[in-house]
Amino acid sequence: MTVTIGIPKGSTPGESRVALVPSIIGKYAALGVELLVEQNAGAAAAFPDELYEGVTFCDSLAGLSQKAQIMLSVQPPNLEEITLLHPGQIVVGYMYPRRNPEYALSMRDHRITTFAMELLPRITRAQSMDALTSQAAVAGYKAVLLAANMIGRFLPMLTTPAGTIRPAKVLIIGAGVAGLQAIATAKRLGAIVEAYDVRKATREQVQSLGARFIGLEVDAESSGGYARELSDEERQQEQAMLADHISQAEIVVTTAAIPGRDAPKLIFREAVERMKPGAVIVDLAASTGGNCELTVPGETIVHRGVQICGPMNIPSMLPVDASELYARNLYNFVVLLVKDGELVIDWEDPIIRDSVLTHNGELHMELSIPSTYEAALKQTLEQGGVK
Ligand code: NAD
Repeated sequence: MTVTIGIPKGSTPGESRVALVPSIIGKYAALGVELLVEQNAGAAAAFPDELYEGVTFCDSLAGLSQKAQIMLSVQPPNLEEITLLHPGQIVVGYMYPRRNPEYALSMRDHRITTFAMELLPRITRAQSMDALTSQAAVAGYKAVLLAANMIGRFLPMLTTPAGTIRPAKVLIIGAGVAGLQAIATAKRLGAIVEAYDVRKATREQVQSLGARFIGLEVDAESSGGYARELSDEERQQEQAMLADHISQAEIVVTTAAIPGRDAPKLIFREAVERMKPGAVIVDLAASTGGNCELTVPGETIVHRGVQICGPMNIPSMLPVDASELYARNLYNFVVLLVKDGELVIDWEDPIIRDSVLTHNGELHMELSIPSTYEAALKQTLEQGGVK
């Protein structure tokens, strides 16, 4: 039986990306699968329905959910959307199980097989599927453009008959995928760029982009190339060292993250109060609590003349290319699930094994069950059982 892949429009507020872009349709056709697309699925990403040649359109999510064997999404389906899915159906996309544990639990209880893009192992074979990387690159680039728009001055040096404007100072905290892209973008705009990371290996990468590396003596690299949490003593050294650099910067972009943890706090009130009026902080870690103590997730606030921006979904602000990259990541993952046009899942494959979040009524991750979910579950059971 031909595998059918469904592309929902998605209903998450503020999400403009789409899981299938027209340039990938031919690749799916070559794989021997059928594509079902909900009407207007790509409209917010500037991919109107006319561009999706060779797919079948569905006019409702219910119709799509009924027919598709695999659903490709950007954001996880919400509780209402999950009730439209059927046991054994596969959903591939971001799942944010820590942010939305009730969705993960509901998918477990509806016996949906979910593969979470953020759980993919960072191994060489999975690089073409690595949505964390592709979307972090988008976020790093856009963060600098946001800051450049918010700040009331030039980034490059400008020599004019009226005098010379000195270049802006930009500090990037966290030099992973997003941070390196932010450095490259700020350099292209002509700013003087400094960058800090707790992993020593980033020094060379930062310098190769023409930025100045600032760092402590410690090397906090742990398994898988990620950072570990710092000790209290290391944290104090870090804050003392960073405060001076922060106070000198006109733009600070923070990207520091520790997998599975809240973002480390690196910028405190006192450091913000030492910044110049008109300076800008863009906190890319806002969705995991923020690197700045004053960040309000999803908002831009002004504290003593310093603007602090805490965007929750920055890749969605660049939906065309973010979707192009994300759709390719998904396609490369789907290739693993389809053999000769048939759905075949190799549970021995580490990419499959690591990325599965729910399967056969089981949750493959430890999550604390929120009381709201327990209450909703109790109500469902009282009304005649879990669907
Ligand atoms: P991330 O999003 O988890 O973290 C962003 C950055 O924050 C990291 O560079 C981290 O060192 C830094 N950080 C953490 N705590 C900090 C602190 N207190 N102060 C300053 N910086 C702090 O990381 P990422 O961007 O996803 O990349 C992490 C690693 O994974 C890198 O080594 C990257 O090269 C590697 N990676 C490998 C692959 C692959 O092999 N397929 C793909 C992508 C990334």
